[in-house]
Amino acid sequence: MIPNYKNLRVVPYLIFGRGAHKQLGDVLAKRRSADASRVVFMIDDVFKGRSWIDELPVESNDEVIYVNCDHEPKTVYVDELTRRVQQSSDIKPDALVAIGGGSTMDLVKAVSLMLNNEGSSADYQGWDLVPNPGVYKIGIPTLAGTGAEVSRTTVLTGPVRKLGINSDFTPFDQIILDPDMIADAPTDQRFFTAMDSYSHASESLNGTFINEFSRAFAEKSQDMVREAFLGDLPRGVADEKLMVASYFGGLSIAYSQVGVCHALSYGLSYVLGTRHGVGNCIVFDQLEDYYGDDVREFRQMLQKHDIQLPRGVTAGVTDEQMDKMVSVALSLDPLWENALGPNWREHMTPERARELYRRM
Ligand code: NAD
Ligand code: ZN
Repeated sequence: MIPNYKNLRVVPYLIFGRGAHKQLGDVLAKRRSADASRVVFMIDDVFKGRSWIDELPVESNDEVIYVNCDHEPKTVYVDELTRRVQQSSDIKPDALVAIGGGSTMDLVKAVSLMLNNEGSSADYQGWDLVPNPGVYKIGIPTLAGTGAEVSRTTVLTGPVRKLGINSDFTPFDQIILDPDMIADAPTDQRFFTAMDSYSHASESLNGTFINEFSRAFAEKSQDMVREAFLGDLPRGVADEKLMVASYFGGLSIAYSQVGVCHALSYGLSYVLGTRHGVGNCIVFDQLEDYYGDDVREFRQMLQKHDIQLPRGVTAGVTDEQMDKMVSVALSLDPLWENALGPNWREHMTPERARELYRRM
């Protein structure tokens, strides 16, 4: 018997290809109830006014809600959006559609669950606490890298903790991976989010939880990010690679775990509000001791694309903030155990973590 086995639930339906978002109408047609059908489109408000929004298959009872992602998702915002969906119509939605980056996808995954479960989304932060399946949901990413399109979690900051709602009901029912949706993403944001999948792969490959399933997806994911940023591909082709790399990176960590970079990055973002993608990059740059070759390759990619990493982000933090950062990071046992083995505390002491943070 395999100890602590994982029975991996994946997204059952996927459409991939440039222009694929145009299939949304077909997909929804199969979900719409015959009499009163309602679909709620939840779209990152950065896209307000884009011409493709007018072409979405929005019907008479449907609703378009623009979600704000200036900050990464909070449980209070999920609860607010859930109330809005509940109160704006008596018709229960047949489907929710998420169009945006990892933040929008996580918001919609959480709202879908909360429409069919009592209380606040904060009550379900943790592992397998959700009793009922959510409303049918479709994810259409507009940035590639987080793997949120395929994962069984939605990362939320709650009143007490930043922790995902991890459950078999969390993954999307359908995803549409359309590389054209990232075509206009700003250079820096596209890079930072893509590096999320590069670090997912690196932390998976260099971790003690690695296995052939995770290795296969991680290696291919890294190859594709490498080709996208170190090759000389046209942007559209590079975007196709990044979209698949994100999905593969997500699948890789779903059956292994992330490591040092993500643990320290969570601490940084908890205390300073640093966004996930850029936070990972700031941390990864300091991890030559753990992910040597990958860190050097990451720097080549930074340089080739002339991306400036924020420097000195921890320069002004108080001792109290530093202690909090360290304690948040060191509370993530599974990440450290994957990275450094069961005796990780002997190596990753609070002093060592503090020293790494001070360099950032
Ligand atoms: P994001 O969704 O937070 O978006 C970053 C910024 O880019 C926002 O200002 C957004 O409005 C903007 N944006 C998004 N798409 C754009 C586009 N095509 N053009 C222009 N601007 C665009 O970024 P992300 O890196 O995709 O997601 C990060 C979030 O994902 C974090 O909240 C993180 O916790 C979460 N995450 C979730 C998982 C998971 O498995 N659920 C995994 C990793 C990260
Ligand atoms: Zn990540």
